[in-house]
Amino acid sequence: MIYKRSSALFIEAQKVLPGGVNSPVRAFKAVGGDPIFAAEAKGAYVYDADGNKFIEYINSWGPMILGHAYQPVVNAVIDAAKKGTSFGMPTEIETEIAQLAISMVPNVDKIRFVNSGTEACMSAVRLARGFTGREKIIKFSGCYHGHSDSFLIQAGSGAVTFGSPNSPGVTRGTAKDTLLATFNDLENVKEVVSQNSGEIACIILEPVAGNMGCIPPAEGFLEGLRALCDSHGILLVFDEVMTGFRLTAGGVQQSRNCKADIVTYGKVIGGGLPVGAFAARDEIMDHLAPLGAVYQAGTLSGNPLAMAAGFSLLKALNENPSVYDSLAKKTAYLHKGLSEVMHRHSVAHTINREGSMISIHFSEIPVTDFNTATNAAKNGQFNIFFHGMLREGIYLAPSAYETWFLCDALSYDDLDKTIAAADSAAKLLK
Ligand SMILES: *Cc1c(COP(=O)(O)O)cnc(C)c1O
Repeated sequence: MIYKRSSALFIEAQKVLPGGVNSPVRAFKAVGGDPIFAAEAKGAYVYDADGNKFIEYINSWGPMILGHAYQPVVNAVIDAAKKGTSFGMPTEIETEIAQLAISMVPNVDKIRFVNSGTEACMSAVRLARGFTGREKIIKFSGCYHGHSDSFLIQAGSGAVTFGSPNSPGVTRGTAKDTLLATFNDLENVKEVVSQNSGEIACIILEPVAGNMGCIPPAEGFLEGLRALCDSHGILLVFDEVMTGFRLTAGGVQQSRNCKADIVTYGKVIGGGLPVGAFAARDEIMDHLAPLGAVYQAGTLSGNPLAMAAGFSLLKALNENPSVYDSLAKKTAYLHKGLSEVMHRHSVAHTINREGSMISIHFSEIPVTDFNTATNAAKNGQFNIFFHGMLREGIYLAPSAYETWFLCDALSYDDLDKTIAAADSAAKLLK
């Protein structure tokens, strides 16, 4: 494939945008080479600036669950735009999408819309602190909750230690209130809680992790956290920015039958426009301004175009819940095909999957937490595989730590092409 125009665009972009991108994950830094510039997309395909066509598994990092340029969403945005793009006054569509979202999700009474998943998680933690009157939070190594200061904390060697900032610009003061724990290790979480008795406002996690590859929760892990939170007056925050409205209509709360106290959303809930949200029962949400004292605001929050996009996508999902079965079947089919290919070429691998999320690690060690994900990341192997797939017209997220997302616009023919491409790419691995 030729990337002449993409290369030229990247040269220009780098002069005015740091690294040529507005979000680091879009650069090809981890896999090598230059990023490919998207021009348009329809259904399961993206077309780049040179006119190359790809079957793609990023789906805008999750939102495009029914495919790109999904007609009802496009129409809703156009109709809304004609009536004005922002008012700074309440609008009817905000109540409509709130009613619909709350009806689809268990255990929440009210929801607040913001502009990104980052904002949703940041605000959820503030609300948890305001509600409990406590300052510390527990997060898990390898879980991503957006780029706000409290979350950019990485583990040192021991898990039961104060975090140290892993991005310059995050103060030690902020970092010391974020405690780290090991995903899928309930004993470790209990230890952190007991060492910080009475000080922890919330435990936040991706209940099915998707930012260290896809890592489902171990049997009993979520239930264990729920019980631990209940016995210590800690709020359990599920970050369902990735999983919400994707794994099932009700997210992981529904699929794993485990209730969180606060849930955050993003990605699918915005239908491809900038939307995040957090939701909880009345007793918690009523602490939020203007009802309560916990402040949170946004000039463009509940923006009419964004709400129209989100509403029409949620409506489509709500009216056709069989889409989740369809997605899970397609993902299982891809899983089987990829495994066969890797076995055929004797490539060591682990494939994790849940619903329409799937990831491959080039190692035989089960990937259950950040440590095992890091050991298995084998960037060299992934980079070869990534570029091999790209040459065959398959666009994967350019990092060994990313989950692949399926959209329902993918046909079985597309999946067969993906598996055939993996067969070619796997030949390059050893
Ligand atoms: C993407 C993501 C976020 C951040 O959302 P943005 O809209 O990128 O700010 C937070 N949490 C999880 C689990 C995510 O996958």
